[in-house]
Amino acid sequence: MMNTIAQRLDAIASALGNSRLIAVTKTHPVATLQEAYDAGARLFGENKVQEILTKQPHLPQDIDWHLIGHLQSNKVKYIAPFIGMIHSVDSLSLLKEINKQAAKNQRIIKCLVQVHIAQEETKFGLGLDEITAFLASPEIPTFENIAIVGLMGMATFTDDTAQIRTEFRSLKSCFDTLKNSVLPHNVCMEELSMGMSGDYLIAIEEGSTLVRVGSAIFGSRPTSPH
Ligand SMILES: *Cc1c(COP(=O)(O)O)cnc(C)c1O
Repeated sequence: MMNTIAQRLDAIASALGNSRLIAVTKTHPVATLQEAYDAGARLFGENKVQEILTKQPHLPQDIDWHLIGHLQSNKVKYIAPFIGMIHSVDSLSLLKEINKQAAKNQRIIKCLVQVHIAQEETKFGLGLDEITAFLASPEIPTFENIAIVGLMGMATFTDDTAQIRTEFRSLKSCFDTLKNSVLPHNVCMEELSMGMSGDYLIAIEEGSTLVRVGSAIFGSRPTSPH
């Protein structure tokens, strides 16, 4: 790719509007993260617990770490001491474990509910029609050490920008409806995490507050064997 990480960060920053950039650094070495940090990036996204744990001790302590990939309950304890936000909550049992581990660390951990908006079957998340019932779960107000601060979604991996826009719009509409409804004390709708390298400009136009961008900053990743 042309340009440096700093130049690519600047180019994306100029398009952000009211959205903030999460630099998605999965598969990249600590030195690359440090380069992005030195260029001003402070929000970093990783999708695997083990990978965050390997990198986090070697980087500045003021990084705001975002877990953006699927999270297994038995791994929450490892990231609970420092994680800034978990984007991939899609079950009450996971939320319960995050609450428990956050309490052990005397923290309140910010979470997003992951919503399935794409056509692909394989992506995690609740359906748009399930969110209201999920947020009405009687256990949620008892979770004193979590704050659900919004929603996260991934559009279908396609060149059809009209379809991507429709999917982002459906998530924004759900977000706005919830924002205007009565929510538990530990739930608010402040963050809408949508947009990746291929579609972050559309996501910003459709109301994203957090874009998660990897390859447009760091180049393409080696394709993973699993
Ligand atoms: C990898 C990943 C991204 C970033 O993908 P790019 O296409 O490289 O920008 C965003 N969100 C999630 C959940 C990811 O796993």
